[in-house]
Amino acid sequence: MKVTPMMKQYLSAKESHPDAVLFFRMGDFYEMLFEDAETVSQELGLTLTARNKGDKGNEIPMAGVPHHAAEGYIGKLVAKGFKVAVCDQLEAAGKGAGVVRRGVTRVITPGVMDGEGLDEGSNNYLAAVCMGTPRRGSRDVQGFGLAYVDASTGDFKVTVLGDLDQLATELSRIDPGEVVVPQGELEVFEGLKQRAGVAFLNGVPEASFERKRVLDAIAQGDRLESDLMADRFYVDGETAKSFFSAVERAGFADGSAAERAVAGALAYLIYTQLGVSSHIQSVEPYRVDDYLVIDDSTRANLELTETLMGGRRKGSLLHAIDMTVTSMGARRLRSWLAYPLVDVRRIERRLDAVQDLRDNVQLREELRGALKQTYDIERLTSRVSTGSANARDLLKLGQTLETIPKLVTLMDDARSGLLRTIHGRLDPCDDLRELLGRALADDPPTALKEGGLIRQGYNDELDELIDISENGKDWLLRYEAQQKQATDIGSLKVKFNKVFGYFIEVTKANLHLVPDHYIRKQTLSNSERYFTPELKEYEEKVLTAEDKRCELEYRLFEELRAQTATYVQRLRNASYMVSTLDVLAGLAETAHRYNYCRPVVDGGDVITIQEGRHPVVELHLEDERFVPNSVQLDNGANQLLIITGPNMAGKSTVIRQVAVLTLMAQMGSFVPAREAHIGVVDKIFSRVGASDNLVKGQSTFMVEMTETAHILSNATRRSLIILDEIGRGTSTYDGLSIAWAVTEFLHDEVGAKTLFATHYHELTGLHETLDGVQNFNIAVKEYKDDIVFLRKLVPGPANRSYGIQVGRLAGLPQVVVERAKVILQNLELTDHDHAGRPMLAREGDGTTRAPARRAPQLSLLDSASPAPMNGHATTGGQAISSAQKEALELLQSFDVSTNTPLEALNLIYTLKKRLDA
Ligand code: ADP
Ligand code: MG
Repeated sequence: MKVTPMMKQYLSAKESHPDAVLFFRMGDFYEMLFEDAETVSQELGLTLTARNKGDKGNEIPMAGVPHHAAEGYIGKLVAKGFKVAVCDQLEAAGKGAGVVRRGVTRVITPGVMDGEGLDEGSNNYLAAVCMGTPRRGSRDVQGFGLAYVDASTGDFKVTVLGDLDQLATELSRIDPGEVVVPQGELEVFEGLKQRAGVAFLNGVPEASFERKRVLDAIAQGDRLESDLMADRFYVDGETAKSFFSAVERAGFADGSAAERAVAGALAYLIYTQLGVSSHIQSVEPYRVDDYLVIDDSTRANLELTETLMGGRRKGSLLHAIDMTVTSMGARRLRSWLAYPLVDVRRIERRLDAVQDLRDNVQLREELRGALKQTYDIERLTSRVSTGSANARDLLKLGQTLETIPKLVTLMDDARSGLLRTIHGRLDPCDDLRELLGRALADDPPTALKEGGLIRQGYNDELDELIDISENGKDWLLRYEAQQKQATDIGSLKVKFNKVFGYFIEVTKANLHLVPDHYIRKQTLSNSERYFTPELKEYEEKVLTAEDKRCELEYRLFEELRAQTATYVQRLRNASYMVSTLDVLAGLAETAHRYNYCRPVVDGGDVITIQEGRHPVVELHLEDERFVPNSVQLDNGANQLLIITGPNMAGKSTVIRQVAVLTLMAQMGSFVPAREAHIGVVDKIFSRVGASDNLVKGQSTFMVEMTETAHILSNATRRSLIILDEIGRGTSTYDGLSIAWAVTEFLHDEVGAKTLFATHYHELTGLHETLDGVQNFNIAVKEYKDDIVFLRKLVPGPANRSYGIQVGRLAGLPQVVVERAKVILQNLELTDHDHAGRPMLAREGDGTTRAPARRAPQLSLLDSASPAPMNGHATTGGQAISSAQKEALELLQSFDVSTNTPLEALNLIYTLKKRLDA
């Protein structure tokens, strides 16, 4: 293959970005070559052609896209997990001698994207994860560093996690678009793909995670020499150092982990954007225990941001309570929901503000009206920094700044502390607002080089040029009138077109009147076109004025953009204030619209909810009215509530509701209840339903047990746990034993406030032996053969499970219902085999039907248990055999409070063996 100079450029760009698809600019196209051509033709359906076609041995596979359509294609590739490196022409063609200089100007990856293709309402984070350095004399790593940054908004945070479990939990809450780790630690973090649902995990060179390397790179700032890069604004060495001193000041137990992570994130920004854009001004260190911990499966189970089935936004808590009116606000609300607080004072501050805005209807409405007129300051600011902002973007920024003084005035009589703070800090950036207002035209185009950007009166030279090109119209009209008079041709016209410039047009009929000094330019079928020296001279003046004007406008615009870029810090602050205000006003609106109450939040250990409702279920009920329920939990007598009741009664709803309301209160929101008192919890756990987690490649039961194990080892006395039907994924006895043992453990060892919805009625017996356990059930009314759901939580165990009635309601055929009743009767009367399977026969089919033994059924507790197996009355009262007597005695002597569940199971096994003998 011949290696032309251009090919050399291509190969060197490819060499420095071997893992990216290279978009190589040639004229008006971006071309992809070699394997990249094959990749894009496959992934994007582009036609595969060849460069040097027909030149045997020199043919190169090639595919291309027009440069103006590139963003769309890049977006699609990146969404599929590819990295794209864009290699641009760094100078105008034909400027220098030889081949045009080219260089990679940016790399787009799933974690670092700009503009198109980003969801407005959520962040797109790049996360850098690494291990800390082991302490001297120890091989144990103390912590894991996690830094994440949203290049489209400038959000940058860092924390340290104690173990991989915490790291996975934190990552799933951040939900980054991409995670980078040091190449050598890839193996350690491989598991995050599954555990935290990380789609793109990449190893990068170890050196990227070194502070010194990163600082050097930023300080040197050697960038591509090109006009293309002149409009990008990067942070300087001082700012870069301040990132690291912020980490030091934070005093993490393992500072090295945090420092490395910050370096890793910055290095990746340098790799993708050739520097750290200036809108990334600071990094915010935080600790996970400053926030309520909610793990991945709990987030999913509580359907905080999307539904469990189908992953839709509608039906989620976020969807139900999001009444923000700006996309900045929507993103901030999402982060409040991901990071509820644990500090009572901070929660109260938010609640005060929400209350202020809920009570003051006029203020709320006016504020929300004004907020609707603001644009996404965060993303506009980042476009300014990265040099991609156009005149319309700046105009939007200016218009947004116009609304800030309005917000300030409106908030003059807001009383709550947080609103006062926002009021004081809302910075309208007066001088920038004034500048943008003065400089920008009313309705500028998106194109930057065709004029129309700058307002008249902003720049004298420009005004003059505009004068020439626009007042030229008068001159032309005058000239046309003069010529008409002089030649006596009534239909004579002076016109302009792009190809021929200015000319005088005379129809065929009048050609005899054309004077000699007219010079012929072009002949048409019905007319002739002429010009005159005068007209020519004029044309030149206008056209150069036009060109000069466009050039000057572009230059002025670039200055304006550079000027704006110096305000990034203030703009970021403004956006923080505006978005917080939007969230508070939105929560107030929700509270007002759905009649929520202000929760009393404190550091105590009582959670009391009076007439609480589930915020999502209540919105989606169609034929029923939502029935409110009251719940009390504490760390004493009401520590663990066992909730029974038939299927569809509302068990899952009521337990989730408690978790959701607690979370809402801690994020600073009002809650759907008549009254609520929330003693702040440190973590919320939930294990709900037996949904298959096919994505994670684990069986239902395995998932269930993994999650349960996670809860048992992470919950504390201050946690809130909701368990929904655990133990369901295995055989009845297995499941029951596990559920039983888990309950005891939660009661005796963990001491966390727990709600446990279960179909194992046997568990209601725990109330007898464990002080903190209470039974509740969701009432149903029996009506003839049917049941009516009352949805009311009442004290005491459910007495039956009504499965058959529910089946009937659901439309099982009558014969199935009847047959089920017979089988149930048999089950209640007959024995089970040693594996716990019922021994029963089909009626009338002549096979062995186990004789009904009429022996009293033994509950797991003792003969005085209030909750017999299956919740049905036993058939006692008959003479018993000696084996049965022996068994009963054994049972009697068994001490339930000192034996473990396993020992209890062993006992059951012995008992059965004896009885079966
Ligand atoms: P379970 O877990 O007991 O099987 P769910 O909690 O899933 O029952 O509730 C079943 C359905 O009953 C819900 O989808 C909802 O439509 C309705 N429901 C539940 N609780 C209430 C309530 N308090 N008021 C009105 N309808 C309710
Ligand atoms: Mg349920």
